[in-house]
Amino acid sequence: MTGFPETPPPEWDLGDWEKVLTIQVGDAYLCRECQNLVMVTRGGVGFMELECCGKPMEKVELPGQATEES
Ligand SMILES: [Zn+2]
Repeated sequence: MTGFPETPPPEWDLGDWEKVLTIQVGDAYLCRECQNLVMVTRGGVGFMELECCGKPMEKVELPGQATEES
């Protein structure tokens, strides 16, 4: 019971790490083409390659976002 079970395997190379994002609740990703917006509702660490309209989606900051947890 030591360490974290979600720790990525050590054999990952740099290319793998570059794709790894710390996914935080409240992060939003926007498609510039069709204005599709994806919001993260569960945080974590892992791969997130969001594509829409054949392009990678762009991380955006939502102004005045309220993080309300009930
Ligand atoms: Zn799109």
